[in-house]
Amino acid sequence: MISTTHIAIAAAASKTLSQGNPLAAFFISWASHYLADAIPHWQYKLKVSKKWSNDPGDLEKIRKSSLPLTDYVAVALDSFIGALVIFLISPHGSLKDWLYILAVVAGGPFPDFLLFLHKRFSWRILEVLRKFHDSFHSGINLSPYPKLGIPFQIIIVLIALWIAI
Ligand SMILES: [Zn+2]
Repeated sequence: MISTTHIAIAAAASKTLSQGNPLAAFFISWASHYLADAIPHWQYKLKVSKKWSNDPGDLEKIRKSSLPLTDYVAVALDSFIGALVIFLISPHGSLKDWLYILAVVAGGPFPDFLLFLHKRFSWRILEVLRKFHDSFHSGINLSPYPKLGIPFQIIIVLIALWIAI
């Protein structure tokens, strides 16, 4: 699931559950990611995902290589769009408001950031979190069906934003 969708779902969950507390919003956003990934979804292809194997030999090679710049650009753009939308629909008059927005924007896609770290570092905790993340992932992959997957994800974003506003 793309970062923009994760951020929108995180905003909806935080609005409902965090009572405006930034720390609570971060953890609620983080947790919302796993539940959101359980929904069958489409995902744009990253070049690195072609070698996105968790085989120890492959991981070793990935960790030693640099990731394609286009992957960074795609994820940054995706996250920026999500952040911008949440910024526009959220109050941002006080420091607490800004921390709240930051918590949602950082927390929603956080497990995917941990996956990225897992492809860089061989820390045991990252492997445990990777397995936890994978255990939630829907077995139905809509990535080969963008004509179904993209509109479906847009609908999810719109529902989430409707709740988050
Ligand atoms: Zn994920």
